[in-house]
Amino acid sequence: MHKTDDFSLAQANLISVEEALKRIESNIEPICGTERIELKKGLGRILEEDIFSPVDIPRFRNSSMDGYALDTGGEKLSKYFTLPVVGTSWAGHPYQRPLMKGQSIRIFTGAVVPKNTDTVILQENIERTGDTIKVLQTVTPGLNIREAGEDAHQGQLILPKGKALTPSDLALMASVGIYDVLVKRHLRVSFFSTGDELRPIGEKLRDGEIYDSNRYLLQAMLEKINVDIADLGTIKDQRNALAAAFKDAASGSDVIITTGGVSVGAADHIRQVMEESGQIHLWKIAIKPGKPLAYGKLSSCHFFGLPGNPASVLVTFQVIVRPMILRLQGIKENISLRIKARCQSALSKTPGRQEYQRGIFSRDDNGEFIVESAGAQGSHILSAMSRSNCFIVLPRRSSGAQAGEWVNIEPFETML
Ligand code: AMP
Ligand code: MG
Repeated sequence: MHKTDDFSLAQANLISVEEALKRIESNIEPICGTERIELKKGLGRILEEDIFSPVDIPRFRNSSMDGYALDTGGEKLSKYFTLPVVGTSWAGHPYQRPLMKGQSIRIFTGAVVPKNTDTVILQENIERTGDTIKVLQTVTPGLNIREAGEDAHQGQLILPKGKALTPSDLALMASVGIYDVLVKRHLRVSFFSTGDELRPIGEKLRDGEIYDSNRYLLQAMLEKINVDIADLGTIKDQRNALAAAFKDAASGSDVIITTGGVSVGAADHIRQVMEESGQIHLWKIAIKPGKPLAYGKLSSCHFFGLPGNPASVLVTFQVIVRPMILRLQGIKENISLRIKARCQSALSKTPGRQEYQRGIFSRDDNGEFIVESAGAQGSHILSAMSRSNCFIVLPRRSSGAQAGEWVNIEPFETML
């Protein structure tokens, strides 16, 4: 990667992405408030109680294979012995009588292994004639048996408070019969677009107008992170209208996100209105696209003012807003997935800001990650965003990359 120290003073004064994240995070306390919900509604929710297993899992000794169960008497048995088959233990329908030494039963995966039975032989290693089996393998005690409690014991902590629930966590709790769980309440996020030129889809465009696409981008990205969403529509570039929208958004929201009007244009009123209603803590970050991002607070509500261009919304949401929303939800660990990929073509960049170029990554025939540009990188270009499946992250001082160079990429977790 080519390095240079000579970026302009204006660029040098911008806050780095890491510093911006740190400063915003210093204002963040996870929200309080809990609710009890049905387990099946639990995906992605934050556990607000420790979960102890009320039972042993597995509940009972059971077979891990389809085969034949017998008692070795604790000894190794040489192959080619024969035994009578006296019954069957089905999953859900146990064999009811005790098994005598010198007998066997047919048994299926998940079926109860009768008391005085200590081994299960795979049906592939058996030759059956009528009600007699011939065992074709040497047998040791304890084969193919799952012991009661080997997964978790009754009373054991199986999930700690604070965990973001995954599909596996839900299955684990269901396996021990837990029906409902105490979780953190949903975070409430309101958003609105700003701009005189914006029209909702479904209406006819007049001269100089464009459709409001940011609300669709934001709505979809928020849906992926499990928050309560309020779409407050499109607001004109008028101070009174913006002040009223902020007031409306602040009541009952934990987070307000706006797009547009946060730069230095004559119609960019967001910061001033925010300063009159609350405080701006941070403005302008060394990120491309998305430099004019603003963060502040409106009473207890966190405010993120994103620039209006769609690629800026995508990048600043993923890089800044999303991790901060996860913190507010009480998710401590959020290891963002950054991997190395070999760049397939040259990438141009001017030193000064950390760039998040839209890229397409895949694996080559050797299994190595490769990445190429998704196309034009203008912050207004939606088609390249739509083709992309990752950001190519080029550091502040970098002046681009050559074809064949290794670069850092961040796959979009929320888009999969
Ligand atoms: P701004 O940040 O308000 O200066 O807007 C930057 C660019 O993004 C302008 O070209 C706007 O027309 C465009 N833009 C702003 N908001 C939206 C939106 N909601 N949907 C699509 N484009 C937008
Ligand atoms: Mg605007």
